[in-house]
Amino acid sequence: MRRSADELAKMRRAGRVVAEIHEATRAAIRPGVTTARLNEVAAEVLERRGARSNFLGYHGFPAVICTSPNDMIVHGIPGETVLAEGDIISVDCGAIVEGYHGDAAYTVGVGTIDAASARLIEVTERSLWAGIAQMVPGHRLYEVGRAVQEVAEAAGYSVVREYVGHAIGTAMHEDPQVPNYWPGTPGPMLKTGMVFAIEPMVNIGGAATYELEDGWSVVTADGSRSAHFEHTVAVTDDGPEVLTRL
Ligand code: MG
Ligand code: MG
Repeated sequence: MRRSADELAKMRRAGRVVAEIHEATRAAIRPGVTTARLNEVAAEVLERRGARSNFLGYHGFPAVICTSPNDMIVHGIPGETVLAEGDIISVDCGAIVEGYHGDAAYTVGVGTIDAASARLIEVTERSLWAGIAQMVPGHRLYEVGRAVQEVAEAAGYSVVREYVGHAIGTAMHEDPQVPNYWPGTPGPMLKTGMVFAIEPMVNIGGAATYELEDGWSVVTADGSRSAHFEHTVAVTDDGPEVLTRL
């Protein structure tokens, strides 16, 4: 699906709200804060901007952000979990403005973190930007995942297979999907106006995942730490345009 200039303008506005949620939640992350409090901070931004959440109620999800600490990869439910010095925490959130969606995630340390965790976060974010750099007209979609995988595996890490990026627009999750690895075929041609959420999930250990009994939280099977970065990005004639940053 190729978005018109008018649609992209709306997606820019949705993306800006997502970026503001990132800024506000990042500022609130410190030892002693609960993940429920981070959800409140995010809800306040949505309210202030008159935006709707695309997470709340999604297949019954009970919050406006996902909070996934340490070995949790994605889809953690905010609650009474208290963040501690040395933890890492992934925050994933989205917003709907005038019917158009934004979706983005980041991982950050809580207080001072060990070198291994800091390196995981740095490499995962770098893998996201390597993927985004592939988003130019004429390239093939699965080059994104190939670039992500190269960065992650060169660092000795693994990329998650079961959860992937996606096209985004009038729904949060549209087809096609965007794997974070090379699936063995180049995939669709990228064209101006296409918009995708690129979202590498990278584990220090193996790629295998495990879903907890709450039906949402996904953790690494081997207990190793995992990081997640995501941006909503448009393919334009001037190169990739990241919609979910200030
Ligand atoms: Mg997301
Ligand atoms: Mg997403």
